[in-house]
Amino acid sequence: MRAAVLYEAQTPMAIEEVSLDGPQDDEVLVQVRATGACHSDYHVIDGSWNGANYPMPMILGHEAAGVVEKVGASVRGLQRGDHVILSFAPNCGRCRMCTIGQPHLCSGMRSAAGTFPDGSRRHRKGADEINCFGRGMSSFAEYSVVHESAAVRITPDMPMNGAALIGCAVMTGVGAVLNTARVEPGATVAVFATGGVGLSVVQGAVLANASKIIAIDRLDNKLDYAATVGATHTVNALKQDPLAAIGDITDGLGVDYAFDAIGDSTVSRLCYDAVRRGGTAVIVGMAPTGSEIAIPSTIAGEEKIVKGCFYGSSRPAIDFPRLVDFYLRGRLPLDRMVTRTYPLAEINDAFQALARGENARGLISPVS
Ligand SMILES: [Zn+2]
Ligand SMILES: [Zn+2]
Repeated sequence: MRAAVLYEAQTPMAIEEVSLDGPQDDEVLVQVRATGACHSDYHVIDGSWNGANYPMPMILGHEAAGVVEKVGASVRGLQRGDHVILSFAPNCGRCRMCTIGQPHLCSGMRSAAGTFPDGSRRHRKGADEINCFGRGMSSFAEYSVVHESAAVRITPDMPMNGAALIGCAVMTGVGAVLNTARVEPGATVAVFATGGVGLSVVQGAVLANASKIIAIDRLDNKLDYAATVGATHTVNALKQDPLAAIGDITDGLGVDYAFDAIGDSTVSRLCYDAVRRGGTAVIVGMAPTGSEIAIPSTIAGEEKIVKGCFYGSSRPAIDFPRLVDFYLRGRLPLDRMVTRTYPLAEINDAFQALARGENARGLISPVS
């Protein structure tokens, strides 16, 4: 199959013919129909995520939807032809976290960096092994092999582009609001950085019936995207002090919930400062390796809450179909997020556009 291989950070991915082994008994082979260019991939491309956790060469891609091509011998509940959204967090269904309802934090499917859950590498160019992005996920390719828990069947009525977005940005952003923070109707919300995840936080806040949804970014085009998916206020942080603007909009109180959708320690701290006493700052974006967030020790008297959010605290088997249903009923305007689609051969253009902040979301169609 053809895949986009990253050999070294800060160099373009190469489109190459590679082989892919599998599926094994508890896995499925999926033909990738749409896959998003996400900031997490870009962190590896630009080198801000680096070291032993990101061995090269590597096939990136973790936000995807496609069609099941082949199922392993012990797979039940999935068959050839099923439309699926891929999850980048496979779960064992048996560990403590899975059992208490936090399968996104599963401890039973850990594997060394660059390998599948069973510890193997499956992609090869000639005799040379290629690493996968994480626990088998490598969707910048025509096919992907994933654990059965990482392919969630959805109705074929769902368009592939929107389905792909649910696999990362939308699950992460909407889940941050509905699952992680549990924003209540009437609450006030601020969203820092309105890329794919931030736009999804805005849409989650709309679904939660938030009263004020304040989007903050440095690019006016991104703030325009935010307004089209439901932001009630937009603040360009280069033209206006975001904390002062949030104060003006909330009668000097601060917001009930603030979301860092970029993963930057300065922005995380802004979220802490933007929430009212007793408010909740949710760190959704994945920060560069080694960075830390400075939190004032007056946090006791302020009674603020700082929460991490991984993958929207998702339970993919429940949440993916739920998000599909929201889309099909017109409650989740995912089509407004897809600015452009690219063939696999132009995948580097998609990431250059992401780096420039041009697209709400760029999608790659590996099968052309
Ligand atoms: Zn992502
Ligand atoms: Zn588990």
